[in-house]
Amino acid sequence: MKIGIVGAAGRMGRMLLAAVATEDGAHVAGGTEAAGHPDMGRDLGELVGSDAIGVALTSDARALFAACDAIIDFTVPAATAAHAQLAADTGTVLVIGTTGLDAAQQGVIAAAGQKAALVQAANYSVGVNLVLGLVEQAARILPDAYDIEVLEMHHHHKVDAPSGTALALGEAAAAGRGVTLGDVADKVRDGITGARKRGDIGFATLRGGDVVGDHTVMFAGTGERIEITHKAASREIFAAGAVRAAIWAGTQKPGLYSMKDVLGF
Ligand code: NAD
Repeated sequence: MKIGIVGAAGRMGRMLLAAVATEDGAHVAGGTEAAGHPDMGRDLGELVGSDAIGVALTSDARALFAACDAIIDFTVPAATAAHAQLAADTGTVLVIGTTGLDAAQQGVIAAAGQKAALVQAANYSVGVNLVLGLVEQAARILPDAYDIEVLEMHHHHKVDAPSGTALALGEAAAAGRGVTLGDVADKVRDGITGARKRGDIGFATLRGGDVVGDHTVMFAGTGERIEITHKAASREIFAAGAVRAAIWAGTQKPGLYSMKDVLGF
């Protein structure tokens, strides 16, 4: 399988280049970066400290989509929406890891799912996808006297908050309770906020250092507290999951799939 990496010089992009290189039956067929990136023209193998593979970093996404069976995208929301349109135009598999998309960008992705096989997940680790199921189950069992709070911490470079994974955990809790997250989410607390509203799902965001991604969902009742925690120690888990998703999607009909579909959960 010919796999292309957009945003190839980013933190996740470099992980993905390395992950594809170790996969039997797949190879890196190209990579792009935003125009003007300082690594433009560099060999993609050398970019990750390996031997040269004879493929240079470019800014031509259209040519990359035309040349590849699957593209993996951990970039920025505006670029991801443009890439989803290219996936629709070319029928190329697209695996989306970018978080922080707005409703219009999400609409472009949903429409592209009519024309090509797309996988989108806020988190490509097996563990987080298991935790999503556990959180939904706990929220279904526990009454709303148990206050749900989602706590996350990430490295100081992260630009969106709460994290896509925290929001996905909130969605899972809301689904378990049979409510819509948008109706009960409490994402910012500052000053005289008043008492906590029963049934709300609260979020707290920490940023600092090189934390890859910590998430805890708390169910705080009277006299007891249940906490479900996932800690990512390396970005390799996301890269491995995204490559697995690309290979899986290569055999699927057009559609917008989730990591749960890939894992068969
Ligand atoms: P990063 O800033 O290190 O990398 C993003 C790269 O995209 C940069 O190198 C940037 O130059 C490049 N880029 C921007 N516009 C582009 C364009 N038009 N074409 C090609 N490349 C372009 O960020 P990161 O830490 O690698 O994270 C990237 C995204 O992935 C974020 O939204 C983050 O939240 C998300 N993420 C998701 C998961 C997951 O499992 N779903 C895991 C980790 C990170």
